[in-house]
Amino acid sequence: MNEALVQLVALAEVDAGLRTLDGRLVDLEREEKRLRDRLAAEDEGFMRRQEAHQALRHSALAKSREADDTDEKIRTYQHKLDHDIIPYKEMEYLREQVTFLRGRLDELADEALQLMAEAEADEGKLREEEVAHEKRRGRLEEDLAALARRRAEIRAEQDALRLKRDELFQRVPARLRGHYARLLASGGSPVVPVVGGVCGGCHLRLVETTVEKVKADREVVTCEHCSRFLYLPPS
Ligand SMILES: [Zn+2]
Repeated sequence: MNEALVQLVALAEVDAGLRTLDGRLVDLEREEKRLRDRLAAEDEGFMRRQEAHQALRHSALAKSREADDTDEKIRTYQHKLDHDIIPYKEMEYLREQVTFLRGRLDELADEALQLMAEAEADEGKLREEEVAHEKRRGRLEEDLAALARRRAEIRAEQDALRLKRDELFQRVPARLRGHYARLLASGGSPVVPVVGGVCGGCHLRLVETTVEKVKADREVVTCEHCSRFLYLPPS
């Protein structure tokens, strides 16, 4: 293979490597986004669970406060009945109230106890769920850290490959550089093999003289259809 073609093939190989690394970074970013979404969902789910527990605690407290208030009301009414001089009608009313409120107090006290017991049991469950949540969270964080390390590795590989690319590009004859850059920018490989008289880039049949020139290997030859650089792969 003539020297210019050797440089072009080497350069195209490095450019293909760089393109592969770009693709890997895109994949990593997608994976990272997926993990971050899962982490956010994990946190959101546990936050809602904590809120549900707080709501249960809150209703237990509210019930217990309602029982205290009722108790207080009974004491006030009873005190009035025991110590104040009040009209008969009002006394009747207060007595009825005290009887009614005592029944209500028993109910409220039972309900408050029931809710407290539920909240206590839920607290135990919540602690267990928190451990499981932190475990899942930790695994996701580890996966994210592994992704970050992988990305740093790829970036380092890219940096090394870019340096190599700059070197190789300078070794390509100046008259071919612009054409190479245009081919690279249009996508795909700028340097392709000739296989069975067909261009490895556009897959069109090459005229006989082009194939002969590639075989003779005295100059850099391009495809008459897609203008990619052509080389004969070692058979
Ligand atoms: Zn072609």
